[in-house]
This record gives sequence, structure tokens and C-alpha cells, in this order.
Amino acid sequence: MQRLKLILMVVVFCLVCVFPAQSASPRHERATTDLPDDITGYQVHVMYVLPSDGVDEELDINGAIATSVGAFQNWLANQTGGQKLRMDTFEGALDITFWQLSTDEAVLASQGAFIRDAIEAELKSSGFNNPEKLYAVYYGGNAMDTCGGGAWPPTLVGSVAAMYLKGTYTDPTVPPCASNPLARDENTPGYIDFAMLHEILHTLGIVPECAPHQTRSGHSSDDPSDLMYAGDEPWQPSILDIGRDDYYGHGKPDCLDLAKSVFMDPTAPDAVIPPGWLASEETGLPPAPMTYNTGLCSVDTRTPTTLIFSNVSTQPVDLYWVDYNCGEVYYSTLQPATTVSQSTFVGHPWRVRDSVTAELLVETVAVSTHLYTITIQ
Ligand SMILES: [Zn+2]
Repeated sequence: MQRLKLILMVVVFCLVCVFPAQSASPRHERATTDLPDDITGYQVHVMYVLPSDGVDEELDINGAIATSVGAFQNWLANQTGGQKLRMDTFEGALDITFWQLSTDEAVLASQGAFIRDAIEAELKSSGFNNPEKLYAVYYGGNAMDTCGGGAWPPTLVGSVAAMYLKGTYTDPTVPPCASNPLARDENTPGYIDFAMLHEILHTLGIVPECAPHQTRSGHSSDDPSDLMYAGDEPWQPSILDIGRDDYYGHGKPDCLDLAKSVFMDPTAPDAVIPPGWLASEETGLPPAPMTYNTGLCSVDTRTPTTLIFSNVSTQPVDLYWVDYNCGEVYYSTLQPATTVSQSTFVGHPWRVRDSVTAELLVETVAVSTHLYTITIQ
């Protein structure tokens, strides 16, 4: 669970926080569907999403979101020497879909940190479920005590990275998320733009558990200026993977490297899909190396939930619950091409092992009350 605490070093004063004229050439027509893709394969699709009762600020058509994406893309290319995210475009311009959810702002905000899961579930059921797309959502509604969230595969596999533009904090000393404007030009990313990139990277599996400075579920501990930093100091992002040893260009073949993600452009010849994602039959790309935290134990949350395990491999696999003392308890065997719906509790880890060799294939922790499927390949 990637909750991004809003820590402001500089309070931005504005009387009326409107978005001024943008430098990016805006698309003038609003799209409520994913328009035909300029490129095939894995790509990031940008959306402007409102709750059912949200106020439409037209960020998708006034250039505001396009400028924000341009700002973090330019920064990323600058840091990497040219590599950036593969974005979904239509006729050369960023393809931004506008979508109004059927759920209202208060109900969504009541989900707390699970608002990302709720938005993802509703977008998926509305057809935004392309298995080769990551959805970068600029959400124009409130969220409680968070300005953004992402998945973190393989622990939490998900397709949505989101910024909650009107998030608010119960602590009155923390300014609301809306006190941070989107970037006004493509050369000056600010808090929201950096944070969107941060959440997209989480959703791609960054920072992996195998990274030497990985801390706090997918962050880096090195320095507050690292894009993926989390810690007790205020976050001041300006550098991608300080020391290049944790998540970009580290060259270690057994640990996830953003430079070799299929979501990067140019794409490396040995690129991999994010860990835990289902490999596309068309591309035949191998999954990224999986990493495991073998020190996990169950936490007694008493919040019931369900995990769905789908065995699409050709071998039988065994399902184990990891108990409160970190011991494995055998539950069942899944034959090839079978799926099981397993009741569990939030905070409980599960492991899948090869029935014959006992090799660890998947480890996952139930992190929310929303259904999700773990696919064993
Ligand atoms: Zn984070």
C-alpha cells in the first residue's frame, strides 16, 4: 500500500487555485473512450476521473494534465539519458480519457487508503481493463489522508496509479493536496507531477524488495531527493535512483530494473513485464524476476477478504497460508487450469509452491477487502 504523505516544504499561496493557460497544445474534444492507439504493446493510458458528484475542471481538455505528464516525462528522460514511459497517444497527442464514476465523492473517500482499489475496480468494470495498459488517473475528488496511491507488484498487482487532486488530511496542520498545482510548463515538474510518476513506478513494481535500500513497501531509504524516497524527512524529489543501485540501471539480472520494463521507451531488447502481471501471449515476454519477503507473518486484522488463485501453468501447485508464527500451513492443491476462491483476512500472507519441487512460485499478502486474482504462470 503506497500512501504518499503530503509533506510540504513550501506552502504555495494562491487565492483561487485555478489552472492557468498551459503551454502544451490541448486536444479540444473530450474523449470518454480509449481512442485508437498510435503504438501497440504496453503503455500508460492517462485518465481524468471524477466521482459522480465531482466538479469538472476540464483538466483533460484544457492542457493541464498533458502539461503535467509532459513535465514528468521530460524530467525522466533527462535523468535516464532519453528513456521515458511509453504513453498512449492518439494521432500524436496524449490520449486522455474523461470518466465520471457512478460512486460519489464521500463514499469513495470513506475507503481511506483503499480508494485506489475502489477506483480501479470501477474503471475495470467500465472497460478500462486492457491487460497491456497501466492507467494513470488524475482523480478530481477527495481522499482521506493521502494525495496518491499505486499498486506494488508482486505484493499488490494492480493497473491503476492515482493522484487524488482534492485529498485532505485529518491533521489540520497538513495542507490539502489541492494546495499543489499541476505543472505550469513542461520543464518544471512540481509535487503532483513527481508524485504521479512515483505512483506509476510503484505500480510497475518499483522499488523491488531485492533493492539494497528498499524500505516501507516499495520506497528507497537513501536520500529525500530520490523520486522513490520515503522516510522521516520531507520528500524533495530531484533524482532518479541515487547511486543507481536500487531500481534504475543497476544491471543486476535477478532484481527488477525500470530500465528493462516493457513500459519504457525505448524498450530494452530483454524487457520484462511487471512482476505478477500476466504475460501477453502475443509478445511472449517473460515475467520480471519475482522477489520475496520470506520473513512475513500473518497480522491479526480480523478483516475478512478473499483471494482468487488461478493456476494457468501446466503443473499442480500447493497453496499455503503463512500463520501468525510465520509457519506455512497447507491448504489445498490446485490442478493446472483451475481457480480457487480462498477466504482469508487482510494482512495474511499466502504462498504458492510447485507441488513436486516445493519451489516458491508466488507470495502475496491480502492487502484490501477488494477481490483480486493471483495468477500462477
Ligand atoms: Zn510511495
